[in-house]
Amino acid sequence: MSESLTKRIEYGLIRAASGMSRLGYPLSWEKLEIDENRSLWASYTPNYTPNASLNGKDTADLCIIGGGYTGMSTAYHFSERYPEKRVVLLEAKALANGASGRNGGMMLNWVYGTGPMSDEMTQRVYRATSSMITGIDNIIKKHNLDVSYRTDGCFEVFTDEQRALEAKEEVDYLNSIGIPIQFLDADEVKKRINLNGIYGGLFDPSEGQLNGVQFIRGLKPVLEARGVQIYENTRVSKITEGRTIEVETANGTIKAKAIVLATNGYTGKLGYFRKSFFPLHSHVFATDPLDEETSKKIGWHSTAGFSDDLNRISYATKTNEGHVVFGGGSNISYGYLFNNRTAFPNTPQSAAPAFDDMHNTMGQYLSGSRQLPRVHQWTGTLAITLRRNCSMGVRGEHKNVFYAFGYSGHGVTAANMAGRVLTDLYSKSDEPWRDMPFVNADFSPIPLEPFRWMGYQMMTRLTGRSPREPHR
Ligand SMILES: Cc1cc2nc3c(=O)[nH]c(=O)nc-3n(C[C@H](O)[C@H](O)[C@H](O)COP(=O)(O)OP(=O)(O)OC[C@H]3O[C@@H](n4cnc5c(N)ncnc54)[C@H](O)[C@@H]3O)c2cc1C
Repeated sequence: MSESLTKRIEYGLIRAASGMSRLGYPLSWEKLEIDENRSLWASYTPNYTPNASLNGKDTADLCIIGGGYTGMSTAYHFSERYPEKRVVLLEAKALANGASGRNGGMMLNWVYGTGPMSDEMTQRVYRATSSMITGIDNIIKKHNLDVSYRTDGCFEVFTDEQRALEAKEEVDYLNSIGIPIQFLDADEVKKRINLNGIYGGLFDPSEGQLNGVQFIRGLKPVLEARGVQIYENTRVSKITEGRTIEVETANGTIKAKAIVLATNGYTGKLGYFRKSFFPLHSHVFATDPLDEETSKKIGWHSTAGFSDDLNRISYATKTNEGHVVFGGGSNISYGYLFNNRTAFPNTPQSAAPAFDDMHNTMGQYLSGSRQLPRVHQWTGTLAITLRRNCSMGVRGEHKNVFYAFGYSGHGVTAANMAGRVLTDLYSKSDEPWRDMPFVNADFSPIPLEPFRWMGYQMMTRLTGRSPREPHR
């Protein structure tokens, strides 16, 4: 497909989006679907017992909806800053049941979709995310959490010679403003991870990989010891805004002075940001733990993970236990389901062709890995906005509805950082975040159904592209 036709399709979609943005469509057409987390990460907390659900009435200074990274990091930083305030967290199923417990595990720098930035802003954004990676490390050590993670760096590799050359120039620029990312040519990359078909890679030594289920569930007793009340199996069905906000669930109500929407790909089901994002399903698998000999044979020596430079991005990490976790790589490894469905029905069986396809892609990158057995296969749901940007902010007549979502596939660090940002916005001490492109950022509208579904199909199937933006 020619570049100009691709551009025309993209332009048409954006026009359709702006034309449709004034029309609403009833929430009753859709329901919130939350399926079970079958990820490798969840298999490391086999005896986890969710808390009892909310039954009756309760009150809160801050009511957080959603028990993923966004919700738990907000509970963590807010309760540290305001030990005297009552914090209640409501999770529809179990903590870490959403994307935070189902992702590829890459703990990355940068915030996706920020667009072009000045030198100063580039430095600020990098510093903010790298200090969050250090922050996660500190939290794990401070509270002695039983979490498998590593911080020995990740690669972004280039499958195109020209893009590799451009990346090399970019590294010169980043180094000149004090950002310590390295460019390694293909042979140097291969010493750490023997990837086929690459022309070099950016290596960020501070990035890593994290088991989000262990991290989030490990934080639960820490928060409870501070007095944070966590209700699980508690699905919020209605929010009525006001100076005091009423949050309704099946068997109870919370009256709260402020709330946090920490529901990422599920946020539209609460009636918020419905035109700003769509829920994307992303499939991931994990191999059996590799022994040292097999690791050597496939050539995975010493790095936490890599992602590539293609539109339907491939990404992989290796855990301390030796599992290789692989996601993406083709159109069928991602999916949007008509009417914003938030669960991919009957996965992993229904997504078998996607898992086979992804396994082939992994085999192309890492010789010999096609033979490795897949022991876990799962699907997660994430929020994708048109410009692939996230936003962390506050809204509502009484400025008491806080939110953070839309991190694309780049949310491990950013959603953990959201807790810091939202706590600062709440306390009006938001200087560190002032003017940052992801704070109170707006979104380009996405067309409603049936144009949304058609647009997704056209964009991905006809052009083979997804709206991927450079993340710095
Ligand atoms: C397959 C996949 C791979 C990814 N890989 C990476 C990666 O390698 N690196 C990276 O940086 N990012 C990655 N991401 C993105 C990252 O995981 C997310 O951006 C991040 O986890 C979002 O965290 P969150 O807390 O905002 O949302 P979630 O973790 O989705 O949490 C939202 C929570 O809200 C709950 N909830 C929803 N509705 C309600 C309701 N009505 N009432 C109560 N509770 C509700 C859900 O059950 C869920 O637990 C990936 C995402 C996916 C899906």
